[in-house]
Amino acid sequence: MPDMETLISLCKRRGFIFPGSEIYGGLANSWDYGPLGVELKNNIKKAWWRHFVQMRDDVVGIDAALIMNPRVWEASGHVGHFSDPLVEDIKTHERYRADHLLEEAGIDVTGMVLEDMAQAIKERGIKSPKGNPLTEPRAFNMMFRTHLGPVENAENVVYLRPETAQAMFVDFKNVQQTSRKKLPFGIAQIGKAFRNEITPGNFIFRTREFEQMEIEYFCRESEWEIHFEKWLVAMREWLKFLGLKDWYEHEIEEADRAHYSKRTIDIEYDYPFGKKELYGLAYRGSFDLDNHMRASGEDLSFLDQEKNEKIVPHVIEPTWGVDRTVLVTLLAAYREEEAPTGEEGESDKRVVLALPKDLAPFKIAVLPLSKKEELSTIAKPLVAQLRSRWMVDYDETQSIGKRYRRQDEIGTPFCVTVDFDSLEDKKVTVRDRDTMQQERIAIEELESYIDTNMRAA
Ligand code: ATP
Repeated sequence: MPDMETLISLCKRRGFIFPGSEIYGGLANSWDYGPLGVELKNNIKKAWWRHFVQMRDDVVGIDAALIMNPRVWEASGHVGHFSDPLVEDIKTHERYRADHLLEEAGIDVTGMVLEDMAQAIKERGIKSPKGNPLTEPRAFNMMFRTHLGPVENAENVVYLRPETAQAMFVDFKNVQQTSRKKLPFGIAQIGKAFRNEITPGNFIFRTREFEQMEIEYFCRESEWEIHFEKWLVAMREWLKFLGLKDWYEHEIEEADRAHYSKRTIDIEYDYPFGKKELYGLAYRGSFDLDNHMRASGEDLSFLDQEKNEKIVPHVIEPTWGVDRTVLVTLLAAYREEEAPTGEEGESDKRVVLALPKDLAPFKIAVLPLSKKEELSTIAKPLVAQLRSRWMVDYDETQSIGKRYRRQDEIGTPFCVTVDFDSLEDKKVTVRDRDTMQQERIAIEELESYIDTNMRAA
């Protein structure tokens, strides 16, 4: 696995991810996805949507408004409780997560409330990272607030959503009635979420603006355990699809679980900066629908017509962070390896992003051996033909060896070289990213060759 510096530098150099607002000195912990990054991220979201929504009969999607009625966030508990324990360095006024400082000092924070943390900080003499005393921990609400309309007063305060999940509860009735789904079924959404994180960092691991892919899966209470297991299996399949070999399934202890949850698993990954959360899977009971029924006065129960029975469904919530997916996909794909000495005149080391072929930004790079017109008259129509099916890069500058290395570094599975023999034999050389093997393929068979190899992947 590369260290973070190596990965961040590759991301910047090759146009995956840049620091946000860089010409103005950046904006702390904001990142922009560049031309290759947006392709990778979109491919991840497309694969997820296809796999978990379009390929299933029991999940439907929504795309809800990002700013919702503020009563949603009162009912969900976010206005009251979506907070982190915060301490302040009394000299520099910098703020830190109290639980993080305690964990760094080797203290188990399981089940601790604010008072326990205050006591532990006092007893153990915990100081700020700058060595100064700290204030007592306070709850800091992480929702971004703004105002709807031109007047800034208390009546029109609204929040940027801190998760996509609540829309699936709020829209439950509309979705269920229009899609006519019966239990068990799920509602999925992909979209941005905002959290005013106190300690963002580690590149795109923790930012204040990020994307989530979430499903609320509604079922009968008696069946929650079966569906929890099924979603755990589904999440494992997805992790394998991303090319991950290792991850950790951390069963959250009762003291650390939300009171309504009988089971929660954090899927963790060993990042270069330590073992931390990647995804989550939680059983939420009927907590959310109950809250919204109480607050809105609407009946959000499901009517089982066969049994003539009204049920408030229970919910399994698998949740995936998009940006953390991009990060682990890149980390798992990165390798530095020996290449055959002087492959086309290049050095014997190469960096390759062995991305799953479906996720690679470009599937094919067409590389005419020289800029001579005779070659581009073959290469350009070939690019146009292939582009109707796949993302294709075209590059005719520098040595072929350099161009292969560049494509390896951005994860392009197939390099197609057009050379002077192509004029005679109507064939091209296809080089495989992973094996570096080259094969001579007839131009008219190229599309089906790529098709077969993409499918095999
Ligand atoms: P953490 O413990 O790392 O703060 P969380 O438990 O608060 O995460 P959830 O509320 O379960 O996270 O959010 C679901 C998913 O959204 C997480 O598993 C993660 O992939 C992603 N996520 C959450 N917060 C952030 C963030 N600040 N930046 C990027 N991704 C995030």
